[in-house]
Amino acid sequence: MTARRTPLVAGNWKMNTTVGEGLDKARELLAGDLPEDVEVAVLPPFTHLWPMHAVLQGGRVRIGAQDVFWEDAGAYTGEVSPASLEGWCDYVLVGHSERRHLLGETDEQVHRKLSRALSHDLQVIVAVGETLQEREAGETLAVVHRQLDAAFDGIDGAAMARCVVAYEPVWAIGTGRTATPEQAQEVCEAVRARLTRLFDGAVGAATRVLYGGSVTAANAAELFAQPDIDGGLVGGVSLKPAEFLRVVAAASGTAR
Ligand code: PEP
Repeated sequence: MTARRTPLVAGNWKMNTTVGEGLDKARELLAGDLPEDVEVAVLPPFTHLWPMHAVLQGGRVRIGAQDVFWEDAGAYTGEVSPASLEGWCDYVLVGHSERRHLLGETDEQVHRKLSRALSHDLQVIVAVGETLQEREAGETLAVVHRQLDAAFDGIDGAAMARCVVAYEPVWAIGTGRTATPEQAQEVCEAVRARLTRLFDGAVGAATRVLYGGSVTAANAAELFAQPDIDGGLVGGVSLKPAEFLRVVAAASGTAR
């Protein structure tokens, strides 16, 4: 079986924009030139999801949440249930490094979020990546393997069709310091090999692996040209619709 991986470019807006500003940006994206062979998603703050879904509905831009909780309902003040996102929200992101490192989210919690989201009709982007200290200590692959093993522990291979992995070296996020295409490719290839080991070759070949970390219109094409990189998770630049559209354009023609 030959897997066909459609590149995905997802914009993580983090805790930025008012609802009104977000809706304006969403409209700008919809009006832009969106190549047919690239999937595009935006991940605005929770407050924006429902009205932005209404704006994006029927268009080519998908919508996702930046996080989700690991229970469906209950006394969990401030958390958002995957059950409340199901049916209209396309993606949820789990394991972003800002949640892991600023808020102390553990591998086990990331796993619980992933499992719960997959029990609903949601697609999940799982972010993994090493800190600078871990890279300098030669621990990059060990860290990424640990995060992947924990996240996908006990997950059914069939559910992997709804999972995307984003390799995001922590030292490259929001720093302006991008991994070289070779560094990014090396780890994305290792992610695919790990998925093959955890599941099988078909899952390894079919799962999309994104790179994230200071992706811009200037460096996207070189990164997305790498054989194991299937698009990007984009932070800062996703808040600038015109440049984000250039990043999306850079992923055109890279389906594998
Ligand atoms: C991110 O938040 O996932 C990210 C990659 O941010 P930036 O593109 O700003 O480095």
